[in-house]
Amino acid sequence: MLSLLRRITQEVTAAQSLPVALDIIVRRVRRAMRAEVCSIYLVDPNTNEYILMATRGLNADVAGSASLKADEGLVSLVGRRAEPVNLEDAHIHPSFHYLKGTGEERYRSFLGVPIIHHRQVLGVLVVQHEDKRRFDEGEEAFLITLSAQLAGVIAHAEATGAMTSLSVNAAPAGSDFRYKGVAGSSGVAIGRGVVVYPPADLDVIPDRTVDDCATEVEEFNQALDAVRQDIRRASNRLSQHLSNDEKALFDVYLKILDDNAWSKDVESKINAGNWAQGALRQVIQTHIAHFDRMDDPYLRERASDIRDLGRRILSHLQAKAPNLAERFEEPSIIIGEELTASMLGEVPLDKIKGLVSVMGSGNSHVAILARAMGIPTVMGALDLPYAQLDKVNLIVDGYLGQIFTYPSEHLTQNYQQIVDEERQLEEEYETLKDLPCVTQDGYRLSLYVNTGLTADIARSLDRGAEGIGLYRTEVPFMVRDRFPTEAEQEHIYRQQLEGFAPAPVTVRTLDIGGDKSLPYFPISEENPFLGWRGIRVTLDHLEIFMAQIRAMIKASAGLHNLKIMLPMISHVAEVEEALALIRRAYAEIKEEGYDVKMPQVGVMIEIPAAVYQVKELASLVDFMSVGSNDLTQYLLAVDRNNPRVADLYNCFHPSVLRALHSIVKQVKNEGINLSVCGEMAGDPMGAIILMAMGYDVLSMSSTSLPKVKAVIRNISMDQAQNMLDQVIHLTHADAVTQTMTRLMREANIERLVRPAKTTTH
Ligand code: PEP
Ligand code: MG
Repeated sequence: MLSLLRRITQEVTAAQSLPVALDIIVRRVRRAMRAEVCSIYLVDPNTNEYILMATRGLNADVAGSASLKADEGLVSLVGRRAEPVNLEDAHIHPSFHYLKGTGEERYRSFLGVPIIHHRQVLGVLVVQHEDKRRFDEGEEAFLITLSAQLAGVIAHAEATGAMTSLSVNAAPAGSDFRYKGVAGSSGVAIGRGVVVYPPADLDVIPDRTVDDCATEVEEFNQALDAVRQDIRRASNRLSQHLSNDEKALFDVYLKILDDNAWSKDVESKINAGNWAQGALRQVIQTHIAHFDRMDDPYLRERASDIRDLGRRILSHLQAKAPNLAERFEEPSIIIGEELTASMLGEVPLDKIKGLVSVMGSGNSHVAILARAMGIPTVMGALDLPYAQLDKVNLIVDGYLGQIFTYPSEHLTQNYQQIVDEERQLEEEYETLKDLPCVTQDGYRLSLYVNTGLTADIARSLDRGAEGIGLYRTEVPFMVRDRFPTEAEQEHIYRQQLEGFAPAPVTVRTLDIGGDKSLPYFPISEENPFLGWRGIRVTLDHLEIFMAQIRAMIKASAGLHNLKIMLPMISHVAEVEEALALIRRAYAEIKEEGYDVKMPQVGVMIEIPAAVYQVKELASLVDFMSVGSNDLTQYLLAVDRNNPRVADLYNCFHPSVLRALHSIVKQVKNEGINLSVCGEMAGDPMGAIILMAMGYDVLSMSSTSLPKVKAVIRNISMDQAQNMLDQVIHLTHADAVTQTMTRLMREANIERLVRPAKTTTH
């Protein structure tokens, strides 16, 4: 049963278009259940009618046109109830409605199950028999399981349907296809897509239109030849060690390579306008799917040979391809299945207008970096047919988390207006640079920045930052291919400390693990956010911890503006241990003759356990900074990177607000400096709430800083506290956002937050 389910899902997933996918489903389900009829009805989102999209058993001529109203027939009953309906004799049911032209009058028994994706009923899957007999429990369970598995595939095929039917040459300008994701970094970008992908991975190769097909065919044939030679060489090299049987494996490879049929297939796809890598991907995937469907295990195994050969040909093709930087000739929007922070290091940032990642969410580290750099970004666009968007005109709406492909002139003009408004706001912000962040009734709030890149220093000073509240040291670790030495680290940290002196610079010890991995120190875990991360790694590797602390302290010589911050603290003992090590490093460096002072040491409050021990922790350290990104993730048990649960990740959830409020109340009289350095601090709404709660410092990306300053300077602390009073007892996160939006509108500060136009799309 399991393998049958898997095979059907695989086949449907590999289908090139929605109609093909639906046809596979009805054909395979009818056969698997030995039913006389299997049909799929999908909901038309405009009319809410159920349209018969595919059928085996009913009259296929009416597929695509026969439909049932939203309250008509058994199919719509299944949809309305979002539950299966299993009937021995459908005709006597009060909801039965004969759908003309389908020929269903012969069929008495009826089993319909809803197809539900993300709480939305997409349609209904139906099987029918002539005899009056109820489908048994096993059959019902099979259909429910299959429908649940296929719902995501159908939703994806529906969302991408219009796109996938296009040939690479036919770009339908003005189609305004819209894809939803989650907001990663605010702002709007208009530009052309550049699809990026990790090397030698066939599955992520995009389609790309080419004019010079002859050169592509030639390069493909050269790559094919190169692989033939590689295999012959490997076979000769190993010939003494292998038996004839084993050597035959190489012959199988060579036979596949010499099989003209599939190489001709690749050539014809190239001649239709796709580049060699895209054509290779299409053909290899079709062949793999074909072998995967075979019942004979020996033949099924051939799928992996084909995949392996595909990869080998690809790597020869990629060795010839121009490198990434050469592909950015014009303002570009980078698209990738899973953009990572290190990928950003490989692209020319001055050419990049926007970013789109199919995976990840608004709190992934790549989104945080994008915000720091002010690049409009959409994350978690799961249904985006990203492989087909190379060189396609796009609009990225980082406010509402949506992407438009092939935008019309009209839509482009609308969005251009938003870009112009943003520019105007930026100019308004410019005038604030040297003004203090003070409320209308004289309350002084300090605004610091979060940094990671060296370039952040100039950008932050330019925007009037009063210090660094969080320097993420993992960023310089991530862009190298080995751990930086103590001397290298000292040099990197010195730039941050010197750039801001005499203002304070909070340097956080290495916070790797979770979604931040170092290519040269891989951590592979089932549950990385609950695993070996942050202080847990560095205390287990004293050589890493001590080199980092020593480098930080040495870098502060003569400047005395260093603060050291410890991430992921969940136990008091971790702080005690780290403090002892920091004191030891300080003593050593002092002895070595450096002009240093013992730095202030603080902890991040980002794990619920720390919230409940905040007083004890406060007694050990000089300052505390709340990491609202992780605190939200851990309090709500919502992975900050997972787009499926991105809707549940919300720092305005009442429990998060109460935890934040409780932290301030608990340490109010401990004489400790308290800041927030998570993304919430850079959200004007969040900033008002946090200031009203009593946080002394808010640390954010340099991009957010002017916006937050503009808002704070335009309200009074009284108003802010009144807003807090109105939202702190609300029970729903949405109610908090709605109430704050209303209050900010009434206080006439909403216009400072984002261009008014964005709310109209
Ligand atoms: C946080 O968790 O809020 C934080 C600032 O740290 P990071 O985002 O780097 O985990
Ligand atoms: Mg954190």
